[in-house]
Amino acid sequence: MNREEYVSDAEWHRFLEFSEKLETPCVVINLRTIKKNYIKLQNSFPFAQIYYAVKANPNPKVISLLAEQGSNFDIASRFELDKVLSLGVEPERISYGNTIKKARDIAYFFEKGIRMFATDSKEDLKNIAKYAPGSKVYVRILVENSVTADWPLSRKFGCHPDMAYDLLVQARDAGLTPYGISFHVGSQQRDIGQWNDAIAKTKYLMTSLEEDEGIKLQMINMGGGFPASYIEPTNDLKEYASEITRYLRDDFGDEIPQIILEPGRSLVGNSGILISEVVLISRKNNTALNRWVFQDTGKFNGLIETLGESIKYPVVTLKDSPTAKYGEVILAGPTCDSMDIMYEDCKYRLPIDLKIGDRLYWLSTGAYTSSYASVEFNGFPPITTHIMD
Ligand SMILES: *Cc1c(COP(=O)(O)O)cnc(C)c1O
Repeated sequence: MNREEYVSDAEWHRFLEFSEKLETPCVVINLRTIKKNYIKLQNSFPFAQIYYAVKANPNPKVISLLAEQGSNFDIASRFELDKVLSLGVEPERISYGNTIKKARDIAYFFEKGIRMFATDSKEDLKNIAKYAPGSKVYVRILVENSVTADWPLSRKFGCHPDMAYDLLVQARDAGLTPYGISFHVGSQQRDIGQWNDAIAKTKYLMTSLEEDEGIKLQMINMGGGFPASYIEPTNDLKEYASEITRYLRDDFGDEIPQIILEPGRSLVGNSGILISEVVLISRKNNTALNRWVFQDTGKFNGLIETLGESIKYPVVTLKDSPTAKYGEVILAGPTCDSMDIMYEDCKYRLPIDLKIGDRLYWLSTGAYTSSYASVEFNGFPPITTHIMD
């Protein structure tokens, strides 16, 4: 694994010094990387408003840094809301992006001053009309993305464009402000063309709503899906930006609506390095060619996105070198659940002289790791986070 492709020498040495005494397992987050990512994203889409998807990494210092940079926030629960508000973010900078919510949570958000809500169903829309009267609503449409996104978000969210049309008409009739359309093309989306399809569907919907109902939507929420750097290559963010901007120009000409982006992974993914310790190295028979490497964290404690071996994190050790000898390994976690295997089909190779007690460094683990850790499975406490300024 070529560590330099993911972390510069200078940042790597700073990280090693910072983390030397830390207990494993843990995730170290580099705030400088997040700041750089934010600036790059905003410069790549200068016309867009950024709403950070808090679930990717809800650490208060991450939220505060992004708030300082001018980010808005996409929130999914009242608990995330309380946290973000307590850090001084104004309610005008928050959108309630979860389409699955309780009526009393809608009331709670409204009471706290939130006036922008996502929806994709009749029942939810009725609740918004009742408990958040007059608010802006945007409707999430279904997009198919299960093949080219490493972590798809299809099926469960969004509705067919015909239904989105009806919901926006109903929103107006119920006294709400029909505000826009949203979609999410799937997380770690490697096919930029997916935005083209979604934007085209959106354009069609907006045109027919205006022509047939006189409803002029103002906003497109293009969701997340921008990549972090894992083993499978992706285009650079600049490429995403220039292509997506071109799709918008093709469909909307000079009258591009207000654009919202909801990045999670692309802002925080490569800011994190997860450190684990090797607990056991074994072979399953006397002549087995591959080793099982068990470490002190796994699927239930930060590495859930290895489900189906979907996200392939680069893993490095201090024994890596151009002259080191490598052998195939199966990487597994410490719990008493046989699901707790990270990589078996995907052939990871680690140095032959790797020993029990050595550390493994999982690069690009700033997103969807600490926020996905179980509380007490087999008694293991949730993975800790350390913030490096
Ligand atoms: C998770 C989520 C995001 C963030 O997606 P990434 O692919 O991590 O950028 C954005 N919007 C919504 C509604 C989400 O649920």
